[in-house]
Amino acid sequence: MPTANRGQKMRTVIIGLDAFDPTVFERLAAQGKMPILEKYTKTGGYSRFGVSNPPQSEVSWTSIATGLDPGSHGLFDFVHRDPANYGLSVSVLPTRKDIFGTRFIPPNQASTIFDQAVRQGYPATVLWWPATFPARPESPVRTLPGFGTPDIHGRLGVGSLFTVDHSLQGESFKTSIEILDNHGANRYAGALKGPRRKRGHEIHHSLARINLEIFDYKTASLTIGKVKLDLVVGQWSPIIEVNFKINHFYSLWGITRVIMTQARPEPRLYFLPLQIHPFKTPWRYASSRSFAKQVWKSAGPFLTLGWPQDTTALEEGWIGDNQFLDLCETIFRTRERILNFHISQMKDGILASVFDTLDRIQHMYWRDRPDVIEAWYLKLDRLVGSVEDRLMDRSNGETNLVIVSDHGFTTFDHKVHLNRWLIERGYLVSLKDTETGSLKEIDWPASNAYAAGLNSLYLNLKGRETQGCVSAEDRHNISLRLRDELMAWRGPDGRPVIQEVYSRADAFSGHLSELSPDFIIGYANGFRASAETGLGSWKSASIEENHDHWSGDHCVDPHIVPGVIFFNQGVSNFPAPTFREFPAIALGMEIEQRNSPPPRLSKEDQAAVEERLKGLGYL
Ligand SMILES: [Zn+2]
Repeated sequence: MPTANRGQKMRTVIIGLDAFDPTVFERLAAQGKMPILEKYTKTGGYSRFGVSNPPQSEVSWTSIATGLDPGSHGLFDFVHRDPANYGLSVSVLPTRKDIFGTRFIPPNQASTIFDQAVRQGYPATVLWWPATFPARPESPVRTLPGFGTPDIHGRLGVGSLFTVDHSLQGESFKTSIEILDNHGANRYAGALKGPRRKRGHEIHHSLARINLEIFDYKTASLTIGKVKLDLVVGQWSPIIEVNFKINHFYSLWGITRVIMTQARPEPRLYFLPLQIHPFKTPWRYASSRSFAKQVWKSAGPFLTLGWPQDTTALEEGWIGDNQFLDLCETIFRTRERILNFHISQMKDGILASVFDTLDRIQHMYWRDRPDVIEAWYLKLDRLVGSVEDRLMDRSNGETNLVIVSDHGFTTFDHKVHLNRWLIERGYLVSLKDTETGSLKEIDWPASNAYAAGLNSLYLNLKGRETQGCVSAEDRHNISLRLRDELMAWRGPDGRPVIQEVYSRADAFSGHLSELSPDFIIGYANGFRASAETGLGSWKSASIEENHDHWSGDHCVDPHIVPGVIFFNQGVSNFPAPTFREFPAIALGMEIEQRNSPPPRLSKEDQAAVEERLKGLGYL
């Protein structure tokens, strides 16, 4: 494999731009709106970039970091299933039970470019990279984890709305609805739920008391624990550190931000999901704890949730567009500040930072707000310009700079209930003849195939699935028929629903392929698995129009959503670069891989898994 020309010393900065789309970029560059990145197109430093199948962020960033496809690193989809009981698990947040209780374990063990740099004797720092929670204390790679980092309750992020309106509590929201009690003129009180604690035999949430005093239609004062804040309607508070008393000897910290969305006639407060305090936590958040503390003290406080851009609060209407965009802006600025801090400290080795806010912006605004999306592409162009200037000052330009995205973006106008289609075609047999259903109510001995996750389709194989029905002899014929019928499926306007059905052998290589889905569904432009499909459920029709705020996506055929790569040393040695070549591009060397085992999971209560999945924007 060719490697890029470079000097002896390793000195590489990687800027990850989650969901940076080549079509949008090339259009804006042609209009002269992306002057920094456009330079790379003129000097042989730009290419479209082949991404993993499926093109989901946690899968794709892991492929980029390791040069491996999912068959070798073991992350196949947001949601995995256990053939022993058809139970679901969260691929980025696997857990194991031991004598200390249930704890999170790393979602995969493959060696990364960062591990390889360390093996070569260089320091490595990786910021906000997906699927890097929990920290591996044995690793010298300095890490602040990205997507997949849970909130303090172990969920992917559930915020709290405080209201006086009791009727909201009866409705089904992802957000937790909490009550503010009126305590006299303009005074209200409530409690923010912290980590669970044991009292006798019962388990309760620890609480942080909230007192709110409204001054006028716009301003108020909020006390939470020992913190006192002035609130202005529509403006986010700074990051606040909240203490929860667990028992007489022990307390835990969480962090959050709060916004008052109205003061009169009745107040409403929205708290971001309560997040892990980066260094006052018993959890393995960062590697190392002192590194997290150093960043917090030197570059300022930061949110720790893997998906801090609160798309759920926007989708459910607790915050408006401007408030969501303000939140996105501060998250971006904080990460830029933290990256700049590290550039200013860097001597050699590898430094990587993922910027994922564009992904959230495109999910929310793809349909209606091209102006918002364009503004973010321009912002990222300026970010790269500012990094280039800093590297020029610091190292006279003698740093390899790679900018890469994990996938592009496309429209999402139809939700696909794949299990409903399997029922209609007789591949899946539900025990109940109801409009909606889930994999908990299946006549398994009569079912040949089922879907769980956003791109995964499984056969119900004899000898693998606990109630498998497809024999080894029938497997081939059923697979062929299933594939033909999926490829012939047409949507409401006659367009194909599916661009390609990939078999395990088409999509994956490596020792973990045995654990993979039997098929990866490459949805055609405009179609994506419904949230219900992700969780193994379905609704009444196999295809439903999408009218959600969440109007664009990338969990489709990977050929529809290639990524980008920009490299200041040129990419002409790599005619069609993909994640497989990424280590050679970024480090100038291959990664020494040992075949690592998949994480050993403990059986988990399905209610706990569903609780954990709460707040994953995709579902
Ligand atoms: Zn996304």
